[in-house]
Amino acid sequence: MTRFTYSLALMASTLATTTLLTDASAQVTSSSYSTGGVARSSATGNGNVQISARAAVSNGGYANARMNGSGRFGGRATGQAIAASHGGTAIANGNSIARGWNARSDSNAIAASGQSHGMEIRTGAAVEEILVRGGRSYGVRLASGEEIKAKLVVSNVSAKLTFGDLVKRDHLPQEFAERIDGFRTRGMGFKLLCAVDRKPVYKGFDAEKCGIEYPGYAHIGPTPEFLERAFDEAKFGWYSSEPFLSPSVPSYFDPTLAPDGKHIVTFQGGVTPYELSNSDWDKEREPFVRNAMRVMDRFAPGFSDSVIDYKLYLPKDIEDDINMPGGNTQHGELSLDQLFFNRPVPGYADYRSPVAALYQCGASTHPGGAVSGVNGHNAAREILKDWRQVSRNAD
Ligand SMILES: Cc1cc2nc3c(=O)[nH]c(=O)nc-3n(C[C@H](O)[C@H](O)[C@H](O)COP(=O)(O)OP(=O)(O)OC[C@H]3O[C@@H](n4cnc5c(N)ncnc54)[C@H](O)[C@@H]3O)c2cc1C
Repeated sequence: MTRFTYSLALMASTLATTTLLTDASAQVTSSSYSTGGVARSSATGNGNVQISARAAVSNGGYANARMNGSGRFGGRATGQAIAASHGGTAIANGNSIARGWNARSDSNAIAASGQSHGMEIRTGAAVEEILVRGGRSYGVRLASGEEIKAKLVVSNVSAKLTFGDLVKRDHLPQEFAERIDGFRTRGMGFKLLCAVDRKPVYKGFDAEKCGIEYPGYAHIGPTPEFLERAFDEAKFGWYSSEPFLSPSVPSYFDPTLAPDGKHIVTFQGGVTPYELSNSDWDKEREPFVRNAMRVMDRFAPGFSDSVIDYKLYLPKDIEDDINMPGGNTQHGELSLDQLFFNRPVPGYADYRSPVAALYQCGASTHPGGAVSGVNGHNAAREILKDWRQVSRNAD
């Protein structure tokens, strides 16, 4: 493979239409649409698999998902149903993609809106400590030593870091601190960015039957058994020999992302444990990519030959790049005991914390990760309820 010549950013794959690819000969139908803040996505395969997902994007009020067909619904595959429901959130935002849009555009838009109301933004300014006195927070100290005083502090940094690192432990009730220690943040997924000289051609895709021109966002996980097996190896500290994949082709929607005639394909998938039991990732990166390519070639023959270059992000890379403990893209596992009123820990799922005037607004809170804005919206709602009191107490 020749050197990489495109600039590939981490991209949120909120693309036009999602398609579940079952197997090469399967009949595949797919739809995704958004109605009044509720997203639904459904895909019907060859009779073995049925996945339906429904997720509210208005205020994270509910999310449910169902997998059925083969009668198996256990182990780690349960997490897939939850992930499918989360996928629904992304799909709702992505019935279309604006040319020139990328994940950074959202942040820039929010920043511009805040600045128009007088908000000051600092980047490259790591917070070293959230300052607490008498049980209430009153500002932050940056790594530079500068202290910034505030009536209240809102943190979207992972709960594990906010309460395990930035707030001194003696400001926290012991039970709360121990529960935060127990919040599981193991990353199991990978992101693979590929520059290719042609877009994937899926042999199971029929444009006429699907009613779409091209599956710009697809899911490859043909049966519940396939998903279970992908997890089986990870349970014992290894990576999947046949990973499940969600390839998307953002350059199909926005050709400005790649040189003429070329494309970008981004994959999310699994399973890639944070640590391996009998080896280390430095040795296993290439073999793992070969596994992913083998699966992709089965569904889109010749794909691996089209790859010009690639970059793989494993959980450890994500942890190092973004300061996400464990490299979990959702800040913490989306398992039932860490969702809803338990997120991040029981008793503090309302965006507040045991420290007065310290709020949480990130993916460690309900409803978890994804570029949805729900956590921030809900946190703002709670802060506005408290604002008069917090403001008075700070004076
Ligand atoms: C590789 C990858 C792919 C993803 N793909 C998708 C997708 O396709 N669709 C989707 O919807 N979501 C996707 N996600 C998930 C989504 O990006 C996250 O759930 C979301 O960004 C969480 O937002 P947040 O504001 O809660 O936290 P974050 O985005 O994690 O923001 C927290 C910020 O705090 C910073 N920080 C950490 N420590 C400090 C400190 N001490 N001082 C100052 N700053 C600090 C971090 O660097 C980070 O910028 C993906 C995530 C990753 C990593």
